[in-house]
Amino acid sequence: MPSAVRPDTAVVVSRRSGVIKFTNCLLVKGTDLVYEDLWISSVTGKILNGQEILYGHLTAPDEIIDLGGRILSPGLIDVQLNGAYGFDFSVIPEDGTMTYGKGVQQVNWNLVRGGVTSYLPTLTSQRPEVYHKALPYLGPSGSARDPALGSESLGAHCEGPFMSPMKNGIHNVDVLQTPHDGLSSLSACYGPSNLTPHAPSPIKLITLAPELPGALPAIQSLASMGIVASIGHSDATYEEAKTAVQAGATSITHLFNAMKPLHHRNPGIFGLLGTASSSISKPYFGIIADGIHIHPTTIKIAYNAHPEGLVLVTDAMRLAGMPDGVYDWTNGSRIVKKGALLTLEENGKIAGSSIELVDCVTNFLNWTGASVAEALKAVTETPARMLGLEGVKGLLREGADADLVVLDVLEGAVGEEKKVVVDQVWKFGVKVHDREDGREGERV
Ligand SMILES: [Zn+2]
Repeated sequence: MPSAVRPDTAVVVSRRSGVIKFTNCLLVKGTDLVYEDLWISSVTGKILNGQEILYGHLTAPDEIIDLGGRILSPGLIDVQLNGAYGFDFSVIPEDGTMTYGKGVQQVNWNLVRGGVTSYLPTLTSQRPEVYHKALPYLGPSGSARDPALGSESLGAHCEGPFMSPMKNGIHNVDVLQTPHDGLSSLSACYGPSNLTPHAPSPIKLITLAPELPGALPAIQSLASMGIVASIGHSDATYEEAKTAVQAGATSITHLFNAMKPLHHRNPGIFGLLGTASSSISKPYFGIIADGIHIHPTTIKIAYNAHPEGLVLVTDAMRLAGMPDGVYDWTNGSRIVKKGALLTLEENGKIAGSSIELVDCVTNFLNWTGASVAEALKAVTETPARMLGLEGVKGLLREGADADLVVLDVLEGAVGEEKKVVVDQVWKFGVKVHDREDGREGERV
């Protein structure tokens, strides 16, 4: 495997210009893998223009890292993560929000090791007091640009409670609400300090059902505030979904799950991917590629309909990474975990996922025949664009954050499946995880 730079060299480097050059690697660029070098700064935590440094400023890199032909990708982005490693973003511990904040930090440290360098911590439908307590801890966390903090929140994803009681999935139907007064209803629920026009909000994305009374003006307001309105847990018809997109919705939450199925006379929300209408643009859509929520062929159909919009999500909850067994769930019911499959004990309904994002990439690759770069785009460039963060995240482009993953693709024997493995993770230009030596970069 590649020759690692000696640790003592790295220490000297950090006191100099901090310029690092990755070489002998395949860069993820669009839908291609390109054999090119990548230059970054461990001081600014950003990607540099290598040509300019070499020829313009005559600066040699302080450190050259030979990746032995492996893939260098932007860090992975998960826009729907309910919890993991035993922690649930929707549960405020009995001993208060201080413990909650520590729990979030713990998730961030664990998450980054799997290659997820940024994400949207996601709250399921809750009573207002939970949002009031939790949201202040879930807002964008990257302003310090501190690699030691682990994975970075890009803002919270509020999945509900403005959803259809007919498509609630595992959400507690007793806490669902109707946005009668548009944005005012949303502000009252999430807390005025968390959602007010012209003020920064910890919320980045809201999943809601557009057919509910008041939902369309709420979507218009969210769009004007730069908050992504995503159609989900909805009984909307194709026409209703189209109206939501015209109002400013730009995304669909876990396409196919918790919505009407495709019918040849009413294509439902899925129909948005095939719209020929010039008045609306096709929305982004989340896909849970865990082999449980959606059939692989259905994923392929959605991808073929709108490849530029597909975003792989885990929808993972706190049992991700935990042993098999029966666990208490938030609203008094219990969940059975068997491998990646999670079901409600009382009715067998699918109750979320426990998959890692890199494994969604592996599944997608094997199921759709997409190239490695195409599969990685669905967890990097596409979610970044969906969140309005193009140029900052999700691309190996000058000026973007140097959030990176080094990946190996293990090829099986003929006819066997490929597997994508995270070898290294870099956050803001600093290595924070290395599978090979277990070193934890800056945190040591
Ligand atoms: Zn859901």
